[in-house]
Amino acid sequence: MFDLRSDTVTKPDKAMINAMASAEVGDDVFAEDPTVNELQERLADMFSQEAGLFCPSGTMTNQIAINVHTRPGDEVICDRLSHIYNYEGGGIARNSGASVRLVNGDRGRFTVDQIKGEVNPSDSHYARTSLISIEDTCNKGGGAIYDVEEIKKLSTFAKVQGLAFHLDGARVFNALAENNTLVSSYGKHFDSISVCLSKGLGTPGGSVLLGSKSFIQEAHRTRKALGGGMRQVGILAAAGLHALEHHAPLLREDHDKARKTASILEEQSWVKSVMPVHTNIVIFDLIEEGSAEQRCHLLEQKGIRSMPFGPSKIRFVYHRDITPQDMVGIEAALRS
Ligand SMILES: *Cc1c(COP(=O)(O)O)cnc(C)c1O
Repeated sequence: MFDLRSDTVTKPDKAMINAMASAEVGDDVFAEDPTVNELQERLADMFSQEAGLFCPSGTMTNQIAINVHTRPGDEVICDRLSHIYNYEGGGIARNSGASVRLVNGDRGRFTVDQIKGEVNPSDSHYARTSLISIEDTCNKGGGAIYDVEEIKKLSTFAKVQGLAFHLDGARVFNALAENNTLVSSYGKHFDSISVCLSKGLGTPGGSVLLGSKSFIQEAHRTRKALGGGMRQVGILAAAGLHALEHHAPLLREDHDKARKTASILEEQSWVKSVMPVHTNIVIFDLIEEGSAEQRCHLLEQKGIRSMPFGPSKIRFVYHRDITPQDMVGIEAALRS
């Protein structure tokens, strides 16, 4: 079986398991796990942020950021395709009592011109706008990469308007592998950043939230309130450190696999169109309306596991556990 449902399906290899087995650990709720502390500091330094906080998932790092940046009744500006809006169990309302101002961007990416009119005036009739959140790369946008120049403009706009600027960077290393930007200069545009270790980086779990010292102090309290404090979790952080060193530099290989598959899909009679591939995600439309479930089932019989991404859309996600040999098998299955 070639599992293309998500880049979360990867399993730790021997080298990662060895790194986990030899991790030095302590109680992270007391901030005494040396491996967690090292990972938090390493990522904070990389992204020009002051501090980091290790959490169980990317949903939690996003939700904590939203919680710290907003008060109940506030409004969050985000794209209608964003993960924080679509795939976090209604967490913005549920955890923080905030609502959203949805923007209709291009593959999940909006420009500063699109949001100039979306910030409410400071008048008691309106919800207080307090946060702009973007996603890079954008999952529902087919792994689309944000233009770094636009990020700079959004960052400046947020500052001038007195809004916080958050990055859902679940796949930020996929973006950075392609856009030739220094991580340090990229990272400084944001007030907070969520980085996932369990997507393309291939660890069994964990995400890190980055921000200023005072932001992370507050984030620590919210993590506690959400029940996200873990103890000797350096075993997971060790996997993260290992992945930053050994897996992050290889992410472009996943992008090559995605591009290769896209070109094969384009030749298939049952495929209507394929979204241009930016990173490791391929989203394509089917000729036959409403046939996604059925097509996924058919693909599964040929050895490819994938996800319907709408009634007539399918998503393939590439990751490090898809080998060159698997690529041969996937091509054969798609052409059969
Ligand atoms: C996967 C993902 C997250 C976090 O998901 P978890 O499964 O909670 O770790 C956040 N944002 C995006 C864009 C994602 O793809």
